[in-house]
Amino acid sequence: MRRLHAKRKMEVDKLRKEKARKSAPSKPAIEINPARNGGKNYHFTEVVRNKEARKHMHAHTCEGCAGYYEEDERSNLNHAANCKGSGSKGSSSKSKSTSSKKSKNHFLDERHRQMEARLQKTSRHRAQHKPDPEPPDYWQMGFPNTQRVEEINRRAEKDREEKRLYMEAQAQTDGFYRYRKD
Ligand SMILES: [Zn+2]
Repeated sequence: MRRLHAKRKMEVDKLRKEKARKSAPSKPAIEINPARNGGKNYHFTEVVRNKEARKHMHAHTCEGCAGYYEEDERSNLNHAANCKGSGSKGSSSKSKSTSSKKSKNHFLDERHRQMEARLQKTSRHRAQHKPDPEPPDYWQMGFPNTQRVEEINRRAEKDREEKRLYMEAQAQTDGFYRYRKD
């Protein structure tokens, strides 16, 4: 009975979301920018040896070196954690806990950005375009339960949103994507 109720609720939520999506103002269409994609309007893979051209390609990791960049990001984190003691000490504890949480998030984002910048500068792996992330739980065997399905859908939605933001950022800076004129 409870299960049926949960299912019904999921269906109602889904309908509501779909309705919201349809009534929302449509976002401008984005397409591949041929000027940054070898003159082509579709994704393709090609070996590029020119150093200057490679600099502008999308840098990524492989299984072998992903750990290196993760460690790079982490070691910077450790350094900051150790440095914390030299920071301000006199502030009141209440405001400190919320503000330090905020600054910690900001700090994590900043570290991640720095790591990505380093990756873009130093990675030996280059692709013409940013590869899509693997679908959530792609390698998970068996049938997920309802709760798991909801979580997978949430993560998939987040991936889509991130991709959309990436494409928009690229379109605004004359990058790998552009706004479609029609
Ligand atoms: Zn590698």
